[in-house]
Amino acid sequence: MIFRTPSYYKDFRCIADKCQDNCCIGWEIDIDNDTAEKYRSVSGDFGQRLQNNINFGDTSSFILGKNERCPFLNNCNLCDIITELGEDSLCQICSDHPRYYEWFGSVKEGGIGMCCEESARIILTQTCPFTVMETHIPDEDSEPFDTEMYNYLYDLRENFLSILQNEEIPLGERLKKLLEISVAEQGITYSAETGTFADILQFLRTLEPISELWHPTLLAAEEKLAEISARKADFLQENPYISGFLRNIAVYFLWRYLLKGVFDGDFLSRTVLAVVSVIINAVLWASKWLDNGISPEDCIEIAKNYSKEIEYNEENLEAFLDGAYDLTALSMPALFDILDNFIG
Ligand code: SF4
Repeated sequence: MIFRTPSYYKDFRCIADKCQDNCCIGWEIDIDNDTAEKYRSVSGDFGQRLQNNINFGDTSSFILGKNERCPFLNNCNLCDIITELGEDSLCQICSDHPRYYEWFGSVKEGGIGMCCEESARIILTQTCPFTVMETHIPDEDSEPFDTEMYNYLYDLRENFLSILQNEEIPLGERLKKLLEISVAEQGITYSAETGTFADILQFLRTLEPISELWHPTLLAAEEKLAEISARKADFLQENPYISGFLRNIAVYFLWRYLLKGVFDGDFLSRTVLAVVSVIINAVLWASKWLDNGISPEDCIEIAKNYSKEIEYNEENLEAFLDGAYDLTALSMPALFDILDNFIG
């Protein structure tokens, strides 16, 4: 089968002890059955340690320690399982993360997720046009899907990626184009009723937060919306890399999610996810800039936090995609205004 990824996929290396927000802290980590069996059979002191720190069951998982640390993450923030048993002994989730995969018949697509600070850095700082790499790998199982829809969405995504990378058009206009095409193609009609950007931020605050800092961050941005909008030009001029970072966020979300429409026929909400993700990041970055300036590293950290909160919490992502129809049906004109006010 064909394995297709963004070209930057191969550049990812975990930065391990240099990582500020280690993925072995704060997440429940499930262990696949084959690896759980392997861990059960390890002998000696380390085997005992494995068996004492794993909940074995239908779905086995590590028993998190203080501050929700993985019990095998040592004081130097290195993994003791790798040190003791080698990298090949990691469970599927640990060896894949932050790589993600999706199967479409004879095609497997993959990428690196923005929830990890190193992959967020790679994704946001791309300056070359987005390209993909294809290799041949042994066949793997795939769920049934609508091949006609696959071909349609594949072409739609190609079209969207090329619109997004047309630097002759302002980014806000490119994003509007994606929304217009998606609304027309999905056959949705929306009323002229207007909503505001505060409605979107409030909607996000109805979702379960992962970090206790997330809702206050959204609230702080909401309080500064008028100033952010008024100073948009200064913000973009002072930080010329911002527009490229935002485009790369849109590319990331479209690449990763649009084709999933083959499983449920819904591509509009996934386009809205990409566009709204750009807007939220832009506003959170501008909010930080107003307080005490912003650096590329700050943008990367905020984008990574956004991804953890919205994308990497299954329930939140589902709620977001469900809510996207409401946002679109009620607030498409508002979304256009928001793009004018905050992206340009
Ligand atoms: S978040 Fe990324 S860079 Fe940090 S430890 Fe996890 S995989 Fe490595």
